[in-house]
Formats: sequence, C-alpha cells, structure tokens
Amino acid sequence: MLPSETPFGWLTDHPSTLSSCELRVSRKKGRSNPLGSSRPIRGLHGGAAGHCRAGRDGARLWYHEKSPAFMALRFYNTLSQQVEAFSPARDNTVRMYTCGPTVYDFAHIGNFRTFTFVDILRRALRAQGFALDHVMNITDVDDKIIRNAVAQHQSLEDYTAIYTKAFLEDCRALRLERPERLTPATNHIDDMVGAIERLSEGQHTYSSDGSTYFRISTFPGYGKLSHNDFTGNLAGARVDVDEYEKADARDFALWKAPKEGEPAWQTAIGPGRPGWHIECSVMAIKYLGETLDIHAGGVDLIFPHHENEIAQSESLTGKPFSRFWLHAEFLMVEGQKMSKSLGNYYTLRDLLERGYQPEAIRYLLASVPYRKQLNFTFDGLKSAATSIVRLRNFKLRLETERYPEGLNEQIAARTDAAAKAFSQSLEDDLNTAEALAAVFEFTRDANSAMDSGEFRAGNARAALDFLGRFDAIFDVLAPSAAANAIADAEVEARIAERDAAKKARNFARADEIRRELLENGIVLEDTKAGVRWKRK
Ligand SMILES: [Zn+2]
Repeated sequence: MLPSETPFGWLTDHPSTLSSCELRVSRKKGRSNPLGSSRPIRGLHGGAAGHCRAGRDGARLWYHEKSPAFMALRFYNTLSQQVEAFSPARDNTVRMYTCGPTVYDFAHIGNFRTFTFVDILRRALRAQGFALDHVMNITDVDDKIIRNAVAQHQSLEDYTAIYTKAFLEDCRALRLERPERLTPATNHIDDMVGAIERLSEGQHTYSSDGSTYFRISTFPGYGKLSHNDFTGNLAGARVDVDEYEKADARDFALWKAPKEGEPAWQTAIGPGRPGWHIECSVMAIKYLGETLDIHAGGVDLIFPHHENEIAQSESLTGKPFSRFWLHAEFLMVEGQKMSKSLGNYYTLRDLLERGYQPEAIRYLLASVPYRKQLNFTFDGLKSAATSIVRLRNFKLRLETERYPEGLNEQIAARTDAAAKAFSQSLEDDLNTAEALAAVFEFTRDANSAMDSGEFRAGNARAALDFLGRFDAIFDVLAPSAAANAIADAEVEARIAERDAAKKARNFARADEIRRELLENGIVLEDTKAGVRWKRK
C-alpha cells in the first residue's frame, strides 16, 4: 500500500484563493500601542521564542497582504546566501520538494523540527494566496534500512511499512499537513534507472564492480550550495555510503551492486538498488518539472545530499534545479546534541508517553525561527503548554463573555496593527518568534481592556479573526483528539441538565454533574453571563 493511500488521514489541504489589490506605500513610525501604553516587543515563554527585534523604526514598504503581484514574502536562500523576495516562477503555484523520512526507525524530535518548519512554510505560503504542489519522498530503501531489515529477517516492504505508518501517525499528531504528493522511492526504480542511463549517455558516470558512480569532476558547479571549494578534491576516489562528511567530496554511487544477502532490483543497468541521492532528483523532476521553486530540508542535508541532488539534476537538465533552498537548523536538547549515548534522545512517542500534549510539542518546535538552533528543554515544553492555555482562555473569553455594545476604535486599530505585525513577521523569513510576540502582546492588551470595560462587543469579531489567522499557521488552539473524548454537544447537554437541576434546587445532582465533567477534563465556570466551559 502506498503511503498516499493509507487511512491515516492527515489534515486535508485548503484550496488557495487569489485576490489582487493595489500596492500601498506608507511610512510607519515605531510601534505604538493604541490602547495607551507603548511597550517594546519582547520574547515569550522563558526564552524559547527569544530574539525579537526591539523596534521597527524607519520607512517600510507596506504591501497589501493578498497581492500576488507584490509579494512581501522573503526567504534566506542557502544557494545565494541572501534574503530574497519569493514568488513562484510560473502561475500561482509553488512547486516545492522536501526530503522526507528514511523509514528505518521512529522519527525523533530533531526530525520533527524540520517537518514542523516545512508545515509552517506550507501554511505561510498559502496565507499569501499561493497554491501548493508539494512533493515529499519516503526513503524506503537505503543503507540503514537494508542493514536493519536483513538483521531482523524481514523484507524491505514489511520493515519499512511499520515505520512509514508510524511516521504518518506522528505527523497527524503534530498536525502536519499532508503534502500534495507522498512518493515512496521504491515506486520509482524505473525512473531512477532511466535517469542514470541518461547521465551515462552524458558522460557523467562510470561503472565499477557492478555499481554506477557519478563523476563529480564533470559538474563544474559542485560545491555551490554548501559553498565549499572542492578544487583538487574532485577526481579519483569514490564513496559507496549514502551519508558522508565534507572531507569526502567524492564520486558517489547512483546505483549500487547488491552485496551478499541484500535485496536487489533486476534492471537494464544490472541488478542492484539506487543510491539515496538519485531518488530525490528523479521524483522532484518527475512531478514538479526541471526547476523547482523551493527545495527544503534540514541543514544536515546540505552536504552531501543536496549538493549531489544539484549535480545529478543539473547534469540531466542543464537547468537550475531549484530557485530557493531553505534549510532548518539543528535541534539541541538541554543545550547538548541529541544522542542515544547521552540519554537525551527523544522520539515524538517518548514525549507523548510522558504525558506531553502534541500541540505543546508542535508549538515549541515552531516557536523558534527555523534558521536558529532550537534548544529543546522540558521547561520550554511546559511553557509552551502554558502559552497555549493562555490563548485558549482568551479565545473562550472572546466567544462567551458579554461586552457593552459598540466599537472601541482604539482597540480596533490595535487589533489591525497586531494582525499586520503577525503577517509581516512571517513574511520576514518565517520569523515565528516575532509573530508569536504580536499575538501575545495583543492578548495581554485585549485582556486588560476587557477587565477595564473598554472592550466592546464590536471588537470581538476582529479579535477572533486574528486568532483564526494565527491558528491557520500555528494550529494549536483546538485540543488534541485524546483530550476531546467528550464531544462538545454532549458537554452542552450535561450543562443544560445541570442548569435544570439547579433550578429545581437539586444542588447535589448539579455538583455531581460538575464532578463528572471534571473527571473527563471539562472545567465549568459560573459567570454572570452564564456557565462557561473549557477543556483542561
Ligand atoms: Zn532528498
């Protein structure tokens, strides 16, 4: 069964919409707070977000958020080492490839830092009005997979099916949107063989002992992504393993002859199996065309994997392989590199078993801008959970409290400014920390305005819309399915039953219902406006 046919339904994709608007140019002076006080932007939740800029003085170009003609979205491009304005090359669709998991084990939280970055990237692109055609591979054949499957006397299919399923379940728990296409490498062996044949016709390969190697001296641009000068290092030696260090910039295997006891495909270029690098080049070009808009992955993939992808792809097509290369930084754990020997190695499942909510993990992974190293700490995870509760409480307050009629213009302006600051932070190379700062400053100010009676009924809609825009990117406001055991309708019915019991002065029964709901994680609050409830 293909992963794309599996029943682990990821969130469905939302169709993109287009709108065209005029370019606006305006001048913004500092950052004022229409609610009265002016405070600097600051980091949130114990430094996990951190690194917010302290001011935004000076002239800025302001573009209407939905104007496809004048996109304000900017990304740091590893290839050019510059921050560049982004828009797709053709029509309104972003053609994007991201390197997927190698399904030899459960994915760890460092892997999910990268996949969460990709998810935020997807959602930010869609918020700009772009459509997406996003391909992600599932690497279901490589050195590690073969080693483990052979050791466990399992077929490749049986072995990788376990971890493919686990990966998709983990993605669903973290609310990672499903790419438009998920493509297992082993479904594309013929395509890879065809590409290797074409590379051979172009004199980019040589064979040795039944394996085929890419001769990197035939590709003058080798090193342009990792910005390494490999001059003098390009001829002669070759490397058979899929992963290797920079010092070993060598001819790499496109096709590997089978070793004793290894699975192999019988093909026109002999028996064997593909190298890791060729699979991404082949699947990316097959589905997205010769030049991608964005290729993304973790920084550990820049060399050799992405460098090799460029060499293969550009030797095949003569065209630039990808216009933008985006790379997410490493995840550290409590300030150290994650490793099994240090005992600080966590899969998503480890954290869920310890009782942490998947949305808190998602929040923490998303909260640090992707180009900064993320220091994963359990304190940070607890702060993330607290931050989510604050936002959920704010949303509940907006939805259930009664406010005086009318509209407070200052608060309306403050809401608008916060929503703009949020969008502009994401447009700024996905500065998630600053985007979260905009949300939390607004939450604090609006809560104060509610407490002082300044907040009006007419302000609630725009505030909820802003929270909706926030949640379309961060997706943490809805409680996870496990905590959702009682349906909303059932909670409402029990509350109505409790109200009736109270009216009948049956307070023992009313208390009993409150206690039962609490046991199911539902907290009731009696307010002047009636009963309000929330999930713990
Ligand atoms: Zn790849």
